[in-house]
Amino acid sequence: MWLPMPNIVSVKCPHCSCHSEFSFSKSIIPKKIDRPYFDKSKSFKTQKVLSDSGWQYLAWYDPGLGKRNIDVIHDLPVGVKAEDFKPNNFYVRHNLSRGVVVCHSCSLRKLHTLTWPDDAFFEVDYKGETLWAFNREMALTILNYLQSSDRKKRIISTSGYVSQHSWLRKIPTVFQTKKARREVVTKLRKVVA
Ligand SMILES: [Zn+2]
Repeated sequence: MWLPMPNIVSVKCPHCSCHSEFSFSKSIIPKKIDRPYFDKSKSFKTQKVLSDSGWQYLAWYDPGLGKRNIDVIHDLPVGVKAEDFKPNNFYVRHNLSRGVVVCHSCSLRKLHTLTWPDDAFFEVDYKGETLWAFNREMALTILNYLQSSDRKKRIISTSGYVSQHSWLRKIPTVFQTKKARREVVTKLRKVVA
């Protein structure tokens, strides 16, 4: 399923396998004159990577790992904005894999390379296929949809808010057959419990 990816997705904690949250990191290529700022800052990590055009200098913001949150850093170099470090465009997010995992069960907080959907916490296997959700809300929406008798694409979410979930049409049919639904719904209920 190709869907807009949220900035934060639910993943299996790499340490304890419990539910944890992954937030995407984002980098910029700062001007040469601004490199000392990023090298010195405890809120960013710098990296030199070899690209087709030679060495590239990157300044990374890893959410939750730096000393300060991006929104409270007020001394950024001229022309650099906090927004530059937020992966707002979902095509950008899909191309990123670096981020930070935070687990409340085991207190893990570390850099992680996302492999989607392998890392998905809300996932159900059926006949060799994997049905996944980005987060609990999406998993509950899928659950409500699969267990509703008429399976309308217009679903009332747990908060009572009615919305069109056009992405529900993208759920592979293998999960939607009468036979599959029973097993998938049972498994999904366990995952969201
Ligand atoms: Zn953990």
